[in-house]
Amino acid sequence: MSIFTAIYFIALIIEIIIRVPLNRKRKQEKMSERRVTSQEQILLGLLSLGGFFVPLIYALTNWLGFADYTLPAWAGWLGVVLTAAALYIFWRAHVVLGLNWSPSLEIREKHELITRGIYGVIRHPMYASQWLLVIAQPLLLRNWIAGFANLLLFIPFYFLRVKAEEQLMLEKFGTQYQTYMQRVGAVLPRF
Ligand code: SAH
Repeated sequence: MSIFTAIYFIALIIEIIIRVPLNRKRKQEKMSERRVTSQEQILLGLLSLGGFFVPLIYALTNWLGFADYTLPAWAGWLGVVLTAAALYIFWRAHVVLGLNWSPSLEIREKHELITRGIYGVIRHPMYASQWLLVIAQPLLLRNWIAGFANLLLFIPFYFLRVKAEEQLMLEKFGTQYQTYMQRVGAVLPRF
């Protein structure tokens, strides 16, 4: 296994370490609203295939060998830098969003609109970190299938999710969220 493939899996493990304690804590929270569509559930399921199982097959077997490509080492290191930035943003977002985080679209009874910390820089830091990871993936895993599966799946997921999520936030927080949208960019900071 190449060092870049190993780094890809280490990053997945770090994401789990960041997320698991929060996921456990939030299970005790009372929710006031839940919006889950089957379309989104299917995309999320496919994303975990593209993010974990396909890379695992790539790493442990030669079944996808026909779709391998080569890249210079610097491209791999660029992938590592993007992955490190993604993990940093992912971690900050979890720290700041705290119990307001949920894997699907949910509003808890005591939901609070967070606009501080990394949420004062961009509105969707977790999705921004996911963008960085899906861009880093083809630099780390040099294979047309294992490298690009997640990028292709994440594009529709991102646009569907953000549209539904912002709709929900606007319904719940009204002008407070509207002002926030005017002030802070979605995944790129506004200068
Ligand atoms: N889009 C954000 C959060 C993803 S988690 C990000 O990329 O970092 C999804 C949940 O976060 C949604 O159910 C929504 O209720 C909640 N959420 C999104 N933005 C929020 C904010 N600024 N403050 C509080 N909760 C938020």
